[in-house]
Amino acid sequence: MALVNDHFLKLPNNYLFADIAKKVNAFKVTHPNASVISLGIGDVTQPLCPAVTEAMHRAVSELGSAEGFRGYGPEQGYDFLREAILKNDFLPRGIHLDIDEIFVNDGAKSDTGNIQELIRWDNSIGVTDPIYPVYIDSNVMIGRAGLQEEGRWSNVIYLPCTAENNFTPQLPDRRVDVIYLCFPNNPTGTVISKQELRKWVNYALKNDTLIFYDAAYQAFIQDPDIPRSIYEIRGARKCAIEFHSYSKTAGFTGVRCGYTVVPKELTAATLTGERIPLNPLWNRRQTTKFNGTSYISQRAAEAIYTPEGKEQVQRTIDYYMQNAHHMLDTFRRLGYEVYGGENAPYIWMRTPNAAPAAGQQSPGRSPSWQFFEELLYGANVVCTPGVGFGPSGEGYVRFTAFGSHEQTDEALDRIAHWSMG
Ligand SMILES: *Cc1c(COP(=O)(O)O)cnc(C)c1O
Repeated sequence: MALVNDHFLKLPNNYLFADIAKKVNAFKVTHPNASVISLGIGDVTQPLCPAVTEAMHRAVSELGSAEGFRGYGPEQGYDFLREAILKNDFLPRGIHLDIDEIFVNDGAKSDTGNIQELIRWDNSIGVTDPIYPVYIDSNVMIGRAGLQEEGRWSNVIYLPCTAENNFTPQLPDRRVDVIYLCFPNNPTGTVISKQELRKWVNYALKNDTLIFYDAAYQAFIQDPDIPRSIYEIRGARKCAIEFHSYSKTAGFTGVRCGYTVVPKELTAATLTGERIPLNPLWNRRQTTKFNGTSYISQRAAEAIYTPEGKEQVQRTIDYYMQNAHHMLDTFRRLGYEVYGGENAPYIWMRTPNAAPAAGQQSPGRSPSWQFFEELLYGANVVCTPGVGFGPSGEGYVRFTAFGSHEQTDEALDRIAHWSMG
């Protein structure tokens, strides 16, 4: 008899975006003539830039020629891309990494999920709350998160990020083995200052904590003083693994490419106290379970770092950030309390309906879901209920700036009309 990994059965079978789709479909059935605009799911909408598509065409032709054909590539990624990463994403910020510290992948979701294979099942984990659900769910799957009770996992330490603390997570009052940080943050769209991030690195060094730092949105940072990489902080390479993605940066959600940085100085302990470097472990894991990102995707990623590629990608980022600014302006003018949107493509809005007292939440009474439905039925606009990202997301909703200008403007007009009507 094959026994199932029953940790999977602990995962609630309601997936946030599936629940949203169900509610939107129910609305469409009863309102067949309404046109619904989604500012909900975090996918991009603008096409790949010409520098990228030209590089992909060239790569395809190469693969179709006798001289240019390539089969299995290096699991860690081709050196042409790893070198471009070092030279463009790190050197200009004074960060000197070795090429072997860069692991090219098929996107940050896989690695933020897989990285937990490097640590024992009984490590304690901490997450900022609300958070990208992959971090917790991947830990649930191997039994590290414990059991879920009222939207909280029993073995997860939640570090609330709300308007009350200016979305700056407080250091835990005990030691935690592993902490996930994501800045700029999905879903709140807020960032961390160098000074605050330094506190985390110092905490990690002092407590022997491993930080998993998700920098998927670093390209959206406008303020030059906000760190784009945790390695801008001294000592971080002794305590942090960092994840990057081209998905949001360059519209690669369908192309698939990103990378993970595992510094050689980074170690974790055995039960007897021996220090084990994680870089060779991750290399071993990748060479065993991963066959590399497609050559075409890696050539596409390399093209982002050419002068034309940089300029074109920046234009698309600016396009989305124009949406974000327009959204912030409109929401503020309408009297909503909104956060994020300045260095990230997400707007985090406090729902105008008051949150119920702690312990009184029932699914039908969730302020996040209630506002979601009011907005859907009143303005035919879809947002994402904040509670779907964790308990501290209750009483908020997320709007994304990844729509077209036309759709975003139309959605804002509808929301204005609905709010003032
Ligand atoms: C979108 C996103 C990613 C990127 O995922 P990919 O697998 O690279 O597409 C990673 N982290 C966060 C927080 C995200 O929102």
